[in-house]
Amino acid sequence: MSGSEFQLINHYFSRLGVDRTDVLLGVGDDCALLQVPEGQVLAVSIDTLVEGVHFFPGVDPESLGHKALAVNLSDLAAMGADPAWITLALTLPRVDEQWLAAFSSGFAALAKRFQLQLVGGDTTRGPLTISVQVHGFVASGKALRRDRAKPGDLIYVSGTLGDAGLALLAQKGAYDPGADLAALQIRLDRPEPRIGTSQSVRDLATGAIDISDGLLADLGHICEQSRVGAVINLSNIPLSDPVRVYVEKQQDWTIPLSAGDDYELCLIVPARHQAEIEARAQGLDVGLSLIGQIEVGETIRCLDENGTQIQIGSGGYDHFPSS
Ligand code: ADP
Ligand code: MG
Repeated sequence: MSGSEFQLINHYFSRLGVDRTDVLLGVGDDCALLQVPEGQVLAVSIDTLVEGVHFFPGVDPESLGHKALAVNLSDLAAMGADPAWITLALTLPRVDEQWLAAFSSGFAALAKRFQLQLVGGDTTRGPLTISVQVHGFVASGKALRRDRAKPGDLIYVSGTLGDAGLALLAQKGAYDPGADLAALQIRLDRPEPRIGTSQSVRDLATGAIDISDGLLADLGHICEQSRVGAVINLSNIPLSDPVRVYVEKQQDWTIPLSAGDDYELCLIVPARHQAEIEARAQGLDVGLSLIGQIEVGETIRCLDENGTQIQIGSGGYDHFPSS
């Protein structure tokens, strides 16, 4: 980067987010100096978005700035952590001021909303690639791990599932959701990290995962790491109207169960907390739905409204003969 290019980048990224008192030294030196509060541990996660792999070339840079940070915050929410700091590694094919202004504005708006400070990063030239690392705090011993689920625990999910997947299907020309397309597209382009939901109920949960690869795959990670199975009641899966219409029309559960990108939370909650979590859910701006239960075993069983086990395939669903 030339001196003037570096100054330009500096203009957008030297003071991004809020000024936090736990940042002893932010952008500008060889390292940032950061103070983790006593009694808390550091939760760290990184995600990389590569143009042409994770997003389409020419995508709206403001939404991209939002999404690059949102998917990382979603990981903090799934760990039960409070967001604090960000580092950002940007690889840019050229220095395009309009692009930088829009990208940083989408990124900064979300950073401010969740009281984050950008404390450092790296800038290089090459194919457009965005790596965001987030750092958060969680009280020692209170993190929502994937390996703590026990038979009998309840499984909750936030929001609705399948909206982003349906938007992607529509983008590929494989389905026409009509007037609902705009709302679905927002779910895909501007995911909302469920930090508030996590903060409100995390003390009742023992585990969580954010749904980035689809409910069955992500709940599958919890089952695998906890060495348990699960049973899901399909009639309790929370669906938006357009996804409900799609499932009924196409007789296809793969969009809500196996499509990713919704970034909702899947929470594991001991059954003794059922009344308390459902009472707290009343006060949240996003719903929590009880969709099933952890059980002994090593598979995830999906039951329809009659209690009949359904096989979720790639192109629809079939009834099991008898099992
Ligand atoms: P170094 O050569 O020591 O790696 P750099 O020239 O890469 O230093 O960066 C100088 C300062 O600017 C560092 O504090 C670094 O964290 C920060 N920085 C560089 N690029 C970014 C970026 N994209 N976002 C935030 N901070 C950045
Ligand atoms: Mg550097």
